[in-house]
Amino acid sequence: MIASQRQNVAERPWLDPAAKPQIVLQGLGKRYGDFAAVGSVDLSIYKGEMFALVGASGCGKTTLLRMLAGFVTPSAGRVLIDDVDMTDVPPYERPVNMMFQSYALFPHMSVEDNVGYGLKRMAVDAATRTKRVAEALEMVQLGGLGGRKPHQLSGGQRQRVALARALIRRPKVLLLDEPLSALDKKLRESTQFELMDLQYEVGITFIVVTHDQDEAMALSSRIAVMDRGAVVQVGTPAEIYEFPRTRFVADFFGTANLLEGTVTASEPGLVTVHSAALGCDLYVDDAGSAAVGEQVCVAVRPEKVRLSKTPPEGARRNRLKGVVWELGYLGNRSTYQIKTPGGTVVTAFAQNERRTLDWSIDWSDEVYLSWDADAAVLLQS
Ligand code: ATP
Repeated sequence: MIASQRQNVAERPWLDPAAKPQIVLQGLGKRYGDFAAVGSVDLSIYKGEMFALVGASGCGKTTLLRMLAGFVTPSAGRVLIDDVDMTDVPPYERPVNMMFQSYALFPHMSVEDNVGYGLKRMAVDAATRTKRVAEALEMVQLGGLGGRKPHQLSGGQRQRVALARALIRRPKVLLLDEPLSALDKKLRESTQFELMDLQYEVGITFIVVTHDQDEAMALSSRIAVMDRGAVVQVGTPAEIYEFPRTRFVADFFGTANLLEGTVTASEPGLVTVHSAALGCDLYVDDAGSAAVGEQVCVAVRPEKVRLSKTPPEGARRNRLKGVVWELGYLGNRSTYQIKTPGGTVVTAFAQNERRTLDWSIDWSDEVYLSWDADAAVLLQS
């Protein structure tokens, strides 16, 4: 099943005020001396979600995940799973299992024994163990490879052994720390889909830590973006990408032109922002929450900026003029950096729809940039 189908059939319990979250983090924090690795995090995650924690290196993602698993003791707050406070519950008694970044497979053990190791500390007889190992290997499509050692497997297969080992205990929640980082780009893309399918089939809640925003967008039902120990925005991939709430989120996810200015008119549906650097007004379709005189930022994604050699037409359009400063050919699309007379550089992406070796817009050409008022987002922080 592909991502879009999955999106259509997926429930969105976070939109239902009556829905009960499976995991609740309340004021969860971790300090190391004076340093707050995680501030005070409040989050609700629902059963069956593929929830991603995303942020730059050192922002506290792994610490948050380890507090959920019970490997790190919080300095403040608590974790509730199905209404049970996990504070005094040791890691192996939590209904949670963790798959580590390195997969942590035992090199001297067979695949079967590695997977069966996941049942350690659980009272199961030999026959049940064998049956559950076989089921877990089947689930990750590794039936028949149980006798091999980890070094006789590909990177993708090793990742699946680690998944099988984590799933064999049938946890309510599976925590995955950078699950795909050991794989090369092509394998990562196909494994992303396998992971989504598997999650959909087993119906377990997955919480994935990744620093890779594309991976988070492709995989997740929702994303929590973290910055310096705090969760700064939670939303679906499209909400995070199309409606970032802060400059940080707009800039961290994909590429954004961040144009600073002062609000000169504000009414529901149309806010006018004067940009001194660009020497013009910018129009944003917004609820009109910004006040006249406020310093704001207008964020525009490069794929929403159109380039033309003739002046663009239409009402409510933002129009700028500039010169092609940099130009990059990326196969499926081209990237243009356009320098405006005031020195501001605006990035635009254009899809290479036709097969051609000629540039219709070339270095040093004078071009017009334009975008609709509803293609931009107004950011107040
Ligand atoms: P990465 O993507 O690089 O793995 P991360 O977002 O997962 O980063 P964490 O590993 O959660 O980040 O670390 C958050 C911060 O807490 C970092 O600044 C880190 O140096 C610090 N930190 C983590 N563990 C400890 C520790 N045991 N003692 C002191 N500081 C720590």
